Amino acid sequence: MVDVMNKQSSYQKDQLENNIYDYIIIGAGYGGLSAAALLAREGYKTLLLESHIAIGGCASFYKRKGILFDVGATTFSGVLPHQPLGRLFKELDIQPNLKKVDPGMIIKLGEKEIFRYADKITWIAENERVFHLPGLTEFWKELYSLEQKSWDLTSSNYMLPPQNLSDLLKLAKLSNIKALPLATKLFQPISKMLAKYNLHQSTEFSRFLREQLLITSQNDIEDTPILPAALGLTYPSETYYPYGGMHMPGELIKNKYLEYDGILKFKAKVEQIEKTDFGYKLTTAKGEQFNTRGVVSNIPVWNLTNITSGNLQKYFNEISNKFTFSWGAITLNFAVKSDVSLPSLYYQIHIEDKIPFVNSDAFFVSFSAEDDRERSPEGVRAVTISLHTKVENWLDLEKTEYERRKNIVTNGIIKEFDRAFPQYSGEEKSFLMTGTPKTFEFFTGRHNGFVGGIPHSVKQNLLSMPSNKTPFNHFYLTGDTAFPGQGTPAVVLGALNTIKRIISN
Ligand SMILES: Cc1cc2nc3c(=O)[nH]c(=O)nc-3n(C[C@H](O)[C@H](O)[C@H](O)COP(=O)(O)OP(=O)(O)OC[C@H]3O[C@@H](n4cnc5c(N)ncnc54)[C@H](O)[C@@H]3O)c2cc1C
Repeated sequence: MVDVMNKQSSYQKDQLENNIYDYIIIGAGYGGLSAAALLAREGYKTLLLESHIAIGGCASFYKRKGILFDVGATTFSGVLPHQPLGRLFKELDIQPNLKKVDPGMIIKLGEKEIFRYADKITWIAENERVFHLPGLTEFWKELYSLEQKSWDLTSSNYMLPPQNLSDLLKLAKLSNIKALPLATKLFQPISKMLAKYNLHQSTEFSRFLREQLLITSQNDIEDTPILPAALGLTYPSETYYPYGGMHMPGELIKNKYLEYDGILKFKAKVEQIEKTDFGYKLTTAKGEQFNTRGVVSNIPVWNLTNITSGNLQKYFNEISNKFTFSWGAITLNFAVKSDVSLPSLYYQIHIEDKIPFVNSDAFFVSFSAEDDRERSPEGVRAVTISLHTKVENWLDLEKTEYERRKNIVTNGIIKEFDRAFPQYSGEEKSFLMTGTPKTFEFFTGRHNGFVGGIPHSVKQNLLSMPSNKTPFNHFYLTGDTAFPGQGTPAVVLGALNTIKRIISN
């Protein structure tokens, strides 16, 4: 009898071992896709579970009658060879169809316009043309130098932020010791650098920086540390448009993942993660169960509190209680007839008449490229507008109140859009759709519809962000609520670092 039982349990063990994944990745946003493809390339047996029917998450898409709309993110940056997306494309040997947009962005500040030219010297001269302030050249030069050093530091140190002695020892190398003074820039706000160059007294320049920082670092001048501010303020000059939509490079990453024998399941919402003797057991909303030795979670940390238990849940509760704030987004999508060519595809518009229920004084407008036939027919442009809002403006409302607010916001934004682009003011805005935090919560499952990750802040700086490595065996975090934060370059960097950590273990 004992023999039979032993045989049975060793049979069950074999069965289990055969069905067990090395890693399950939760969520096919840019962070999860990158982590999955990099792991599969290393030969790990991987399963990627995505609750939606398409990849991309906040950088996903939908179609209406031959027009493809981006749902949130619209621009790529960080694609140069030493930057995260450039490194990922090289590692996976993929060549996404990206067009460099120059000027990378045009900012409309009332009557004035400022062009974010890609060439640094031209961009600095443009600053002087618009703001006429002594100190501007030195200010931008220092930002560019800090930007370069930040990329060098983050790409050569995958164990940031350090979690234990072994991480600290790996960080103790000459190049890092030389870079130590940089760390002070994590504890000082960018307003300090403005004062150093005597730029803080210009309300016009301060407003320009404030709006640029909000869309890049998700915070303001007084609380964004100098280092993330340097990355956030320099990147809008180096902007790339993805042909076919923001999800297209993601499709190439997905295809590579499948080529490397990775398994992907759509409509697979993870509803439970349990610790087991061999690793973890994941259960989906459909009741499917998967066993794995390791997990890479690419969903926001707040979401993990509801699907874990015991020590895991305690850990994610602690993180969630520490980082309680994130922005929500309002998005508007529509198509316009357009036979004029535009000087850029990306614009930031400073709002003149305050719009209720939103919390930024500017909005971001992206147009599909004139020659992008995957996005729209000839003579038509797909337009995406986004701006910041606090989620409490949108959650727990009666349906009529929710619709009322949505109408007010939609009309306010269209009025400002027509003012900024008079050539489209008489044109019909077809397929007009407004998204709110409720929409993001519904389609991406993100807790409260929080998007844009955890804002960079002096009080809770980069090194205190949730680490990619958790205290639990083979349980890792990627995505925009883990180090180093939000935006496609950052979540890809998080994935590159995490997989290096896994491989080097
Ligand atoms: C309006 C807006 C504009 C932006 N503009 C830009 C921009 O121009 N450029 C830029 O670089 N960045 C931009 N960003 C930020 C960028 O989109 C995000 O930081 C990035 O896409 C986040 O990727 P992620 O992989 O961390 O998460 P997500 O994209 O949120 O992916 C998470 C995935 O997990 C899935 N999921 C959730 N719960 C579960 C579950 N329980 N089980 C299985 N799957 C689950 C979701 O469906 C989703 O696909 C913008 C964001 C917004 C909202």
